[in-house]
Amino acid sequence: MVKLTQQLTQFLNKKTFGHFINGAYTTPSLTNSIEVINPANEETIVSVSKGSPEDVDYAVRTAKTAFEYQSPWRKMSPDDRGKILFSIAEKLEEHKESLAQLITLENGKLIKDARSSDVGGASKTFRYYAGWTTKIEGETLDISQPQKGNKQNFAFTRREPIGVIAAIVPWNFPLSIASWKVAPALAAGCTVVLKPSEETPLSALLFAELAVEAGLPPGVLNVVTGDGATTGSALISHKDISKVTFTGSTQTGKIIGKAAMENVTGVSLELGGKSPAIVFDDAIDFDATAKGVAAGIFRNQGQVCVAGSRVYIHKNVFDKVLTDIAHVAEKMKISDGFDEAADLGPLVSRSHLEGVCAYIQKGQEEGAVLMSGGDQPFDKGCFLQPTIFSVTDNEQTIVQEEIFGPVLVAIPFTDMEDALQKANDSKMGLAATVWTKDISKAMTMVNRLQAGVVYVNSPVRSDPNLPLGGYKHSGIGRELGKTGVYAYTTLKSVNIVY
Ligand code: NAD
Repeated sequence: MVKLTQQLTQFLNKKTFGHFINGAYTTPSLTNSIEVINPANEETIVSVSKGSPEDVDYAVRTAKTAFEYQSPWRKMSPDDRGKILFSIAEKLEEHKESLAQLITLENGKLIKDARSSDVGGASKTFRYYAGWTTKIEGETLDISQPQKGNKQNFAFTRREPIGVIAAIVPWNFPLSIASWKVAPALAAGCTVVLKPSEETPLSALLFAELAVEAGLPPGVLNVVTGDGATTGSALISHKDISKVTFTGSTQTGKIIGKAAMENVTGVSLELGGKSPAIVFDDAIDFDATAKGVAAGIFRNQGQVCVAGSRVYIHKNVFDKVLTDIAHVAEKMKISDGFDEAADLGPLVSRSHLEGVCAYIQKGQEEGAVLMSGGDQPFDKGCFLQPTIFSVTDNEQTIVQEEIFGPVLVAIPFTDMEDALQKANDSKMGLAATVWTKDISKAMTMVNRLQAGVVYVNSPVRSDPNLPLGGYKHSGIGRELGKTGVYAYTTLKSVNIVY
């Protein structure tokens, strides 16, 4: 088992945390707080304040002041802004172990994933967007407006930072998803109020501390901890927010979308998924395919927005591929996330585990055949076996609804049309994977799958330069890449008559 770093021990010794606003912690609230629980042993780690509307207002006013035209942040050259983003990336690397351990404590995930996906992913994102600060550009445009005499038009567009951004993030990748919002928003010159999930607020607080240490002016990034009903609601309805960028469930996304329209603010919604993995009978290597499909669903205990939670397998190879995937699942070591040899840690919380188990029960009630797993292996902690169902009816609840746990449903298909029809028969459209060695088949699937991201012969992975977002109920807008930074700019059109 991993030993906690001295830095992390000191951080946790605070026991109660206020919000991180204007480069410092506010006094923790004694009456209005939320306990942060370690899902591996269900013990309280520390408590954080539950942001009231007044706390939210203080954070937004601070971010608004930091965004004023003459503020140090607004006056900073793009190159200097880039240097700060680089320096945040380096800080994250320097404190990788403490941050990763903190994420494993609050989320339960495997320490190796916390190091690579969360902290490594966040530092990569900051490095990537550090390079974008100097590359944001408008266009010159030939327009047709008639002018008197010798006068002419010189028309152009400029991209300006939108303003104060409300960034609301979920618990599954607390730091990397925060970085997908904070890094491009800062690169564009915006200021941010970040609200982490009530399950995983600690890594956001330590991250904000480190960002200020890295040279980010106080007030440019503020963190308000709390729940959705009080803190999140106050943030999305604050009149001084210019854009809400949200990642989370489709249900919450709809509430946020409505609130944004009420204030006429911009909104981007990265929502749930129920992503298909489609395995043809000419897959390149069936062993690697089974491992890839298993990794696509069981990574991070299945708590991944792009998880391949429905696998469609060609009828000729259905039994073989399903058996292979089940073998991979059965060999996985379930243990505390701090166990370096673990393959599967606990789910994020008892209530989430209960929700996932309710789906397992529902699947059985509706006639799905349980092929593997389905049980909680230990008395203590929010652990669940990797679970696989075989299903024939695409309309079953466990095929249609996002479970967000280590639960895979396998369904046979007869040909490409059947696979496409079944894969696209979903409200969601976040991601898909296709497993075949036939490039024509792969490209037809790529073109016709209703999904924001399609990977061929690999589980879906994120990359800072690859936009991510959903079709249908999986969201509005794209994060990452060039699109991801332009999402925090607004376009001004100018015409100089000379
Ligand atoms: P959630 O919607 O319950 O919560 C997400 C965040 O929204 C939390 O910070 C929460 O406090 C806040 N929130 C809740 N109600 C709110 C309200 N009324 N107003 C303002 N804020 C509110 O989601 P979750 O359970 O934390 O995360 C899991 C979900 O996130 C899954 O559906 C998953 O697919 C989705 N997700 C999507 C992506 C993507 O890129 N599309 C990435 C990761 C997770």
